[in-house]
Amino acid sequence: MNLLELYPEELETFFLKLGEPKYRAGQIFLRIHKHLSSIDKIYELPKKIRNYIIEKQLITEIQMIQHEKVSNINLNDFGTQKFVFEYKHEKSSLSRIFEAVWIVSEKRKTACISSQSGCSLNCTFCATAKLPFMGNLATWQILQQVYKMILYNKNYQEKLTNVVFMGMGEPFYNYDNVIRAAKILNHPMGLNIGVRHITISTAGVITGIQRLIQENQPFNLAISLNSPFEEERTKLMDITKKFPLTDLLKICKEYIIHFKKKITFEYVLIPDINMSKRHILELVKIAKQLKYCKFNLIPLNTNFNNWRAPTELEVLNFQKKLRENDILVFYRGSPGKTINAACGMLALQKVHSNIIS
Ligand code: SAH
Repeated sequence: MNLLELYPEELETFFLKLGEPKYRAGQIFLRIHKHLSSIDKIYELPKKIRNYIIEKQLITEIQMIQHEKVSNINLNDFGTQKFVFEYKHEKSSLSRIFEAVWIVSEKRKTACISSQSGCSLNCTFCATAKLPFMGNLATWQILQQVYKMILYNKNYQEKLTNVVFMGMGEPFYNYDNVIRAAKILNHPMGLNIGVRHITISTAGVITGIQRLIQENQPFNLAISLNSPFEEERTKLMDITKKFPLTDLLKICKEYIIHFKKKITFEYVLIPDINMSKRHILELVKIAKQLKYCKFNLIPLNTNFNNWRAPTELEVLNFQKKLRENDILVFYRGSPGKTINAACGMLALQKVHSNIIS
């Protein structure tokens, strides 16, 4: 058990079992999730309770093992930072390494976090897919990525505005831990990040979207679409075999109707693969069917399979053609590219050899 993972009402039970008053729960939740204090600094708690928590290791921590920041600051990138974190279990050989990115733009400060160490999916364009899958992250490990990045940047005045589950892994293959972390990030006694500022991105795990709807979890949903054609999408993202595109689009419609919220489609632009007129026409068709959606264009960042990244002009042309059809479409550049922190680049480049061995 890790106390970082418990909702206030669960912490109440914990303290009652220790013979402590219920109000301790609120005290500790506020201090660990809003003020980001370490347990030895929570002086409201009696020393014996603090010592008990420390001795029993009821709050453990991930370690930052690397940090890099882009040096070339420009209009799209106000100083993206990449963090590599590790958790090593003291007694077993269990170890998890994972990355998170701190993205700063003019209006936003976004924590892009991982839900898994490595990824079990096989998307052909993504560097994370080339890593071995090393397991799901626990709720506390997900939360601590955000907290450690805030603490590292604590001299900056502006607040964190957004959290996106767009780091390593497939969030819906770790549904319970991801949703619990998202709810704690959203909690009024924690960082209180609005549900409209927390985005979960999926390669198309339909069962995860179904659960969001059934459980009425109103977090933003992003889908990595990458091709509007079943067969072509299967070649890029073999998860399409398990969750067909037609079914995925059906559940997207349900999500939109249920939450009355737009879905974001991420679209990695790969010249000669998914950028033709045919693709544009089909994307327009999908957008018109769903009505309430938008597109985020991401130029290909790492070049596999002899593919190349699109030029700026090609990206802008693609965007223009969608816009001419009244489609809501954004292109925000690729912050963090020079430090391997942009979309699809999280592959533990500097620790890679150690992991493979
Ligand atoms: N598994 C989830 C969360 C990862 S989000 C998902 O697929 O949505 C990572 C985003 O980066 C996805 O939208 C993916 O399509 C995009 N991406 C992956 N490889 C990329 C690359 N080489 N260049 C640009 N974007 C890439």
